[in-house]
Parts: sequence; structure tokens; C-alpha cells
Amino acid sequence: MTLDEIVVPPIQRVLIIGAGIAGMQAALDIANAGYEVVLVEREPSIGGRMAQLSETFPTLDCAQCILTPRTVEVGHHENIRLRTYSEVEAVEGDLGDFRVRIRRHAAYVNWDICTGCGLCQEKCPKRVVSDFERGVGKRKAIYTLSPQAVPNKPVIDRQSCIYFERGKCRACEKFCPVGAIDFEQEDAVVEERVGAIVVATGYDLYPLSLMGEYGYGEVPDVIDGLAFERLLSASGPTAGQVRRPSDGKEPKEVVFIQCAGSRDPELHMPYCSKICCMYTAKHAMLYKHKVHDGQAYVFYIDIRSAGKRYEEFVQRAMEEEHVLYVRGKVSRVFRENGKVMVWGTDTLSGRNVEVAADLVVLAPAMVPKAGAGAVAELLGLPTDEHGWFTAAEANFQPVETGRPGVFLAGAAVGPMDIPETVAQASGAAAKVLSLFARWSSEVTVTSQVTVT
Ligand SMILES: Cc1cc2nc3c(=O)[nH]c(=O)nc-3n(C[C@H](O)[C@H](O)[C@H](O)COP(=O)(O)OP(=O)(O)OC[C@H]3O[C@@H](n4cnc5c(N)ncnc54)[C@H](O)[C@@H]3O)c2cc1C
Repeated sequence: MTLDEIVVPPIQRVLIIGAGIAGMQAALDIANAGYEVVLVEREPSIGGRMAQLSETFPTLDCAQCILTPRTVEVGHHENIRLRTYSEVEAVEGDLGDFRVRIRRHAAYVNWDICTGCGLCQEKCPKRVVSDFERGVGKRKAIYTLSPQAVPNKPVIDRQSCIYFERGKCRACEKFCPVGAIDFEQEDAVVEERVGAIVVATGYDLYPLSLMGEYGYGEVPDVIDGLAFERLLSASGPTAGQVRRPSDGKEPKEVVFIQCAGSRDPELHMPYCSKICCMYTAKHAMLYKHKVHDGQAYVFYIDIRSAGKRYEEFVQRAMEEEHVLYVRGKVSRVFRENGKVMVWGTDTLSGRNVEVAADLVVLAPAMVPKAGAGAVAELLGLPTDEHGWFTAAEANFQPVETGRPGVFLAGAAVGPMDIPETVAQASGAAAKVLSLFARWSSEVTVTSQVTVT
């Protein structure tokens, strides 16, 4: 055999960035086919936005009940190397041999010996507003995202920790039965080699406090859709009871406002966020299931419910649950005598509408996840004018990028519901698997030629 005949085989391992339902689905498809997956997640645990949801439209399945078996499977899969609380900071190489540098943030807890007993969280004296609970719930300075977290290992939030702030406390360390707290822990950097990459970084909600509209950030009883999911969720801060943030009372009149920052080319995002009509109908319906004598109003521009059994779902909200749909835009939301006043116009009747609500729930535009631009830059991928990743070709290559070996999955591409996200993720996984299959046959053929 001469040196020219030696072939370095492409690496049949994949890196997936983001472990929401898209990244998890792609990881499971590839891992179940027998290939290794490195799954990188920025948060301490996996599941993405779906882990925040209460029930899912149009079936009203319990989101946690259908998600947990998958997070557990990902967490235990022998072919999946889970790297949570981590981010990709450099990528070199090309299709078949990417070299990826990953930074694992210091958790200040030795996860190798932590048993996830939760005592540290129980004993921690510092409570702070929780991002995961979307501002309607609190967590400790040492925390896991949720009771179902995978991995079920806590991290210390350095900014909130009394010890890091003032040099004393160490309650978590005192009570940890296995000595897992490590205040000296530092970030760790590892390198992984993979042959292909899937980007599944998902979405955020439009930062409504920047809009200065609808009272968000000023009126405590104006919240966004994800916060309402947490109020509805049995594992949420109110154990599934709908309570308004200001005084914990059960709201009897709730106004839902769609297109908050979407379809507004002059001031905000010009595009339709596609799923808000559906989750608002779900919210209004679930609210009525919990507060039988409550009244739900939905302000909408028009209803976009394209999807199997989606239209029927919205009709059910209107006809069976008696949710009052008002076609029109809201002009003002403000606080008065403990109520949230909502002024708008019903464009069908031409009349002004005024509701003295107890709670207002906004459906903000979906926007690319913070940091998606940096990932695009690392990988040399194009994004559109709003920052969403763009496919190589919209019709026939929806999960491919212009860069060979790099694929897209889920809401990193644009607003998407769970079924579409999962289908897309399986599409990206199929593309990776077909690359690996091709490489296997090429390597076999080459070695056969070399031998004969
Ligand atoms: C209020 C609300 C209600 C909804 N209800 C429903 C419903 O009932 N039914 C339905 O079908 N859909 C619903 N959806 C939509 C659903 O949330 C999405 O379809 C789904 O979460 C998309 O999954 P994803 O994995 O693409 O993105 P995400 O869930 O956003 O997951 C992305 C993951 O990537 C991680 N990540 C991001 N950047 C990086 C990085 N640089 N490095 C490492 N990790 C990173 C994130 O931390 C996150 O874990 C709802 C959405 C909202 C806002």
C-alpha cells in the first residue's frame, strides 16, 4: 500500500447545538441508528421551551408527560454524550472532520458525585426571580431548572449566591451529604471531533419590555404566553392554579392579546409568528377549564390556524368554551384601581371596547434565540434579515445549509410548532445518517480496492 492509498475516514459522529425538542429528536434518531452524538446545551438541563409548557395544542397532552420519557432517554442513551451548561466557542475543519471547542461553565457543584438529592436547594437562603418560571416564580441561588430536570444536577448562580457576593454563607456546602459543592470550580474547555453538525438553537420571545407597549414590564398583571404556561403548569410556581402575580388572586376576566410585536412592519416584526393563534386558543381554553366562572377575551387581527385539527380547536374555544374573540387592535393597556384596563376597537362592529381585566396575557413575536448570530458566525452560516437561520434552498433543501455537513432543525429556522419541529429534526437526522451511510460504503469500497 502506498501513502496515496491511505484514506482518513470521515468521522461518523455528530455535534448537535441545542437540546430543545429539535436537538433531542435529532440526537435520538442518530443515536438509535448506532452513531455517537455530542449534544451541547447552554442551560443546565435539556428540554428547551417545551419543558416550560403546560399542555400542547390541539390534543391537550400534558407537555411534561410526553417530554420526560424523551429527556430521560437522551440522558441515559449510551450513544449520546450530553454536554449541558456548555457552549460551542470555536469550530475548525470541514465536512467529515470538524474540530469543535466547547466551554463548560463552572457549576460550582461536582456533578460526578452529586446525587441530585435537592438538599442544597432546600437549605439555600437566597431566593431570586426565575427565568425558567418567566418571572412568575422564584428559585434559589443554587438551582435546577425544574423538578424533572435532566440531568438532575444543580448549578450555583454566581451573581445571586451570598457566598460569592459577601464571602459567607456556604449553607449548600454545609448540608451537602456527599461534599459535592466546589466553590473553586472553573470553566472547563474540551475539544470534540465530529463529521457533521446540526444547529437546533430554537427561539426566544420578543423582548416586550423594549416595546413600551401593552404595559409589559410596568403593570405586574401583564404577562407573556410562556409565563401563563407556567401558571397553568402543575409543576409551575402556583401548582397549576391560575393566580395573578400582583396579589395571588384568581383572575375572573383575562384578556389575551395576539400579535404583540408580530405583523407590525412599522414598529416591530413584520412576520406572523404562526403558532400564537393556536396557543392563545389553548390558553383561553385551559383558563376556562380552571376558572369555570371566568371570562376570557381574545383580541386578534385574524385567525391563522392552518394545521391538522387546528381550525376545529379554535372553533371549540369559541363555541364550547365561550371564549369571546374580538377582532381588533388594542390601543392602550394601563393599571387602574387594581384592574388592568384594556382599550381597543372591535373592527367588525366599529365600536370601541373597554375591558377591566384582572390579567392580560400577551402573545409576543417569536425571535431567534439570543446568541444565534454568534453560532451563525462560528459556522459561517447565513441568517435572514431577522436573524433566523436560512436553509440552502427553501423548497427542496429545508434542513440543509450552504455549508456541507451542517444542518438545521426546529425553531432556529423560524416560528414553528412541536410537530413541525420534530419532523424537521428527523429530516436533519436523516440527512446526517445518509452522509454516514455513504461514508461507510465509500470506506469499504476503498479498502476493497486497496486489498485487491
Ligand atoms: C407560549 C407558547 C406556547 C406554546 N405551546 C405550544 C403547543 O401547545 N404546541 C406546540 O406544538 N407548540 C407550542 N409552542 C411552540 C414550541 O415551544 C416550539 O415548537 C418548540 O419549543 C421548538 O423547539 P426547538 O427545540 O426548536 O427550540 P427550543 O425549545 O427553543 O430549544 C432550543 C434549545 O437550544 C438551546 N440553545 C440555544 N442556543 C444555544 C447555544 N448557542 N448553545 C447551546 N444551546 C443553545 C436552548 O437553551 C434550548 O434548550 C409554544 C410556544 C410558546 C411561546
